[in-house]
Amino acid sequence: MIYADNAATTKLAPEVFEEMKEYLLESYGNPSQPYNFSRKVKRAIQEARNTIADCIGADFEEILFTSCGTESDNWAVNSGMGGHGSIITSSIEHHAILESCKAAEKSGRTVKFMPVDGLGLIDLSWLKDNISDTDSLVSVMYANNEIGTIQPIDEIASIAHRYGCLFHTDAVQAVGHITINVHKSKIDLLSASAHKFNGPKGVGFLYAKRGLSIDPYINGGGQEFGMRAGTENVASIVGMAKALDTNCKEMEHNKKHLLSLEKELLKGLRQAGIDFMRNGSDHHIPGNVSLSFNGIDGEMLLHRLDLMGICVSTGSACDSQRTQLSHVLRAIDIPEEYAFGTIRISLGKYNTFEDVITIVKAIKKILG
Ligand code: PLP
Repeated sequence: MIYADNAATTKLAPEVFEEMKEYLLESYGNPSQPYNFSRKVKRAIQEARNTIADCIGADFEEILFTSCGTESDNWAVNSGMGGHGSIITSSIEHHAILESCKAAEKSGRTVKFMPVDGLGLIDLSWLKDNISDTDSLVSVMYANNEIGTIQPIDEIASIAHRYGCLFHTDAVQAVGHITINVHKSKIDLLSASAHKFNGPKGVGFLYAKRGLSIDPYINGGGQEFGMRAGTENVASIVGMAKALDTNCKEMEHNKKHLLSLEKELLKGLRQAGIDFMRNGSDHHIPGNVSLSFNGIDGEMLLHRLDLMGICVSTGSACDSQRTQLSHVLRAIDIPEEYAFGTIRISLGKYNTFEDVITIVKAIKKILG
């Protein structure tokens, strides 16, 4: 089997699993208890918080553990200035943001959607022309899950702040893959999810700038500084920190590896004389390759590749059950004859040149 759907989820790194085991089998004490057996567990959570903060240029008390990227996104949208005022977001956000915004609209908030260009980059002049003092939150994803495009985050944050808005970024596809410094970029809120960077599923975090007045997400005990009650998912938190630390240390190596795999993939398809276009910007998440094949049914291509033991996606994991064009492909306005023939091959650090050669051969066989 060749797994090339790393934007949907990644394989748990073996060293991460090793680190987690202790907190499942041996150090299982409740971190809130005062005895020595539990103090070790509490310390492990503190260390994980410190490690994660270091990886994104934050301070430890700015990291709040959550159950996934979706939860972090929901929290951020509902917390901008206490959950009041208008929201500005982009037309290519993940459903975790789009649906949170829809719910906010139902409770009376106005939501404005920024358009993007053909590369998936948001229109900064639209933002400058449409933002106003009545807006409270600007939420733009760091990198898109379907096409990999990385947004000009620092500029967006600076425009948002000029109008007194908080700036949130859904960085689920970016954290652990590209360098992020929340303080330097002046980000107020950032969402991340461990399973996108070789950590376990069911754990994520929300970075919330110190001093920000956000509402608690779950009321109860004092966990997560009283902001998200409930006994911590200790093993997963420890695993997430190990995964992020490892990926940040390996980042330059992984980037180089993934960009050379991408090059090989595109070269192979071109040499095979296949008519396709690559979607997204040159400044993208390494390994995220969205391809649109002329006159081909993307669903058919996905299923034929599946029969050959190759996992890819037609769009975002959440969209792959739907047959219509995804909102992202619609927003970047690719020609219809190509749009329906879109697949996303998202390569990860465990993919090899042999994998890419096999994928090219398989596509050639199916389309040839
Ligand atoms: N945001 C983006 C950009 C994503 O790609 C995803 C997952 O695909 C999510 C949010 C949701 O993350 P999770 O699966 O951890 O809830």
